[in-house]
Amino acid sequence: KDEHAFLLSCIRDIPDYPKKGIIFKDITPLLQNPEALKITTEALTRPYRGKEIDLVVGLESRGFLFGPSVAQNLGAGFIPVRKPNKLPFHKIAASYELEYGADTVEMHSDAVKKGQRVLIHDDLIATGGTAAAATELVQKLGGEIVGYSFLINLSFLNGKDKLDKNGLFEAVITL
Ligand code: IMP
Repeated sequence: KDEHAFLLSCIRDIPDYPKKGIIFKDITPLLQNPEALKITTEALTRPYRGKEIDLVVGLESRGFLFGPSVAQNLGAGFIPVRKPNKLPFHKIAASYELEYGADTVEMHSDAVKKGQRVLIHDDLIATGGTAAAATELVQKLGGEIVGYSFLINLSFLNGKDKLDKNGLFEAVITL
């Protein structure tokens, strides 16, 4: 509806960034607009109200923009998943395949307690590799994936198929 069209109008396409052939979805105009910021935060929160979320796990780095606000709205805590060698304490790691090579993400070993109910959040899901690796980290510590929330889903890349089927998958904007 109108809300969707409005938010979509706040996302800027940047051709050939960071590499030739990639059209980067720039969300900074959306962050800049107070109305869009508010609507987005609420849209990311709404599907998970009453779902007893203990923790929102945000993926570096744009998952840190809305993650803590969504956590606060849900009465949950916030956990950062980071790129290698950024976290200071004891940590666990998970790797995933890229087109060329592999990437790794890390989380503190004490971030999730057994049985905690977790929502994974990022600004955008493409191939789903990052969110799948974060799923592995949460499950390694005994956490339960309750949901996945993204601002943008590049659905033609089928990233959703890589994720835990028990997680309630929601994207504010599907492209
Ligand atoms: P995936 O692991 O292939 O699903 O890629 C998702 C990750 O790449 C997320 O952390 C996104 O922030 C980032 N990403 C990939 N493409 C874009 C884009 O066009 N705009 C913003 N972030 C992107």
